[in-house]
Amino acid sequence: MERELYRSGAVAGVAGLVALLGWLYAPVLRDMAAQWAVDTTYGYGYYIPPVAAYLVWERRRALAATRPKGTWLGLPVLLIGLGALVLGRAGGIALLSRISLVPVLFGLVLLLGGGRMTRLAAFPILFLAVMIPIPSGLLQRLTWPLQIFTAQFSTEVLRLMGYPVYLEGVYIDLPHVRLEVAEAFRKRGLEVTLLEAKERPLPHWDEEVGTLLKGELERHGVEVWTGVRVLAIGGAGRVEAVETSEGVVPADLVLVATGVRPNTELAQAMGVALGPTGAIATDQEMRTNLEGVFAAGDVAESFHRVLGRPYWLPLGDVANKHGRTAGSVIAGKEALFHGVVGTAIFKAFGLAVATTGLPLEAALKEGYRAKKVFIQSRDGAHYYPGSAPLWVELVYEEGTGRLLGGAVVAHGHGALRVDVLAALLHRGGTLEDLLALDLAYAPPYSPVWDPLLIAAQQAR
Ligand SMILES: Cc1cc2nc3c(=O)[nH]c(=O)nc-3n(C[C@H](O)[C@H](O)[C@H](O)COP(=O)(O)OP(=O)(O)OC[C@H]3O[C@@H](n4cnc5c(N)ncnc54)[C@H](O)[C@@H]3O)c2cc1C
Repeated sequence: MERELYRSGAVAGVAGLVALLGWLYAPVLRDMAAQWAVDTTYGYGYYIPPVAAYLVWERRRALAATRPKGTWLGLPVLLIGLGALVLGRAGGIALLSRISLVPVLFGLVLLLGGGRMTRLAAFPILFLAVMIPIPSGLLQRLTWPLQIFTAQFSTEVLRLMGYPVYLEGVYIDLPHVRLEVAEAFRKRGLEVTLLEAKERPLPHWDEEVGTLLKGELERHGVEVWTGVRVLAIGGAGRVEAVETSEGVVPADLVLVATGVRPNTELAQAMGVALGPTGAIATDQEMRTNLEGVFAAGDVAESFHRVLGRPYWLPLGDVANKHGRTAGSVIAGKEALFHGVVGTAIFKAFGLAVATTGLPLEAALKEGYRAKKVFIQSRDGAHYYPGSAPLWVELVYEEGTGRLLGGAVVAHGHGALRVDVLAALLHRGGTLEDLLALDLAYAPPYSPVWDPLLIAAQQAR
């Protein structure tokens, strides 16, 4: 009777401990399960606890035959585990709080069951560690030497066997020029991977346009990684790979294109004042704050007519206009530079991507009650042979209908329609102004309703 009481007391105690553990680890397990659901690398995580339970069940006879002989040695192990859990939770270190489960379980079994029981339970407990996702940065750091070795070894073997080995180039970030280089490299047969830190393939514009661009790049064999941080460029003597937060990319050539900055050192040394953008501040005649000193080109800022403040737009057409204005004024002729609206166009394989003004995200950040429409139309009448899809995005202010920005993506010169939007933006035009325009139509060049007009109708 006494033994029965003792046994049921022990069972109740263990059940209480398990409940306490469940309560302590519920948030950790919930987080982990949420990660398994979205992270395909660890999707198998769901199966690990039942398999561990099965492993315990398999040892049930040996466990039942073992007399519990708890040892206080389990207490420090348990405390180390609980300390790791507290630290992990307080410091937001998910890996630490997750991994703490292993010493906590070991400590408990040692404390209650003793050494022999711990040996029997060791494998199922250690097996639980397999379900814990390791942060990709850490995993890459651990496996980096092995990956470099494997990449190098297989390259050499393939070369020895006489197989051609393609060079692999890697790009970091996505300015327009980089896309042109990517295209040139692909045409030379190089394997190209684009690494972009932002989540979107075209960071300065809205999602839909970026998705079209990404599709075009991928169709032409360029791998596009977004939301990826470059951690290191590795290699012995020469570049061999780029280590990123999402994995290692073998590379023989790395082009780092992370943007440009105005080179203002000389001007600053002279006492020329910079504007809020970090480029040289000028008036509309391109005069700086110093008498007789003018600034033009990438080194100078412009006035943005939609934002209503200075803006830095380092582009060739802007530089030319700056230069012409400054030259005219210096030569005694009246001239003014009338500012920019941020118009740009670039080519990525068969696609032309043109943008002007503000994307929706930027317009909202500026405090506009902005909305957008995104439509697909065609660059010619639908029945005309060879006509291709063309996309238009319009960003506008709700209520007033004032145009704030736009993009045109096409398989050719149709993307230059963006200039119509640029002209309206210069004048503070609205959707109604756009709808009133008499735009050109002939089946080879446009549907009877120009795509800009279709977009404006949808927005109205
Ligand atoms: C590869 C590439 C492609 C591009 N494609 C486009 C495009 O398609 N569309 C577009 O609009 N823009 C494009 N641009 C941007 C465009 O080229 C620049 O905006 C434009 O050239 C800027 O003109 P700039 O006169 O200010 O400067 P630059 O053209 O750079 O001229 C500055 C000159 O000053 C010289 N210099 C510098 N320091 C000194 C010094 N201390 N003493 C003497 N000389 C000095 C430099 O050597 C250089 O020749 C591209 C740029 C690059 C790099």
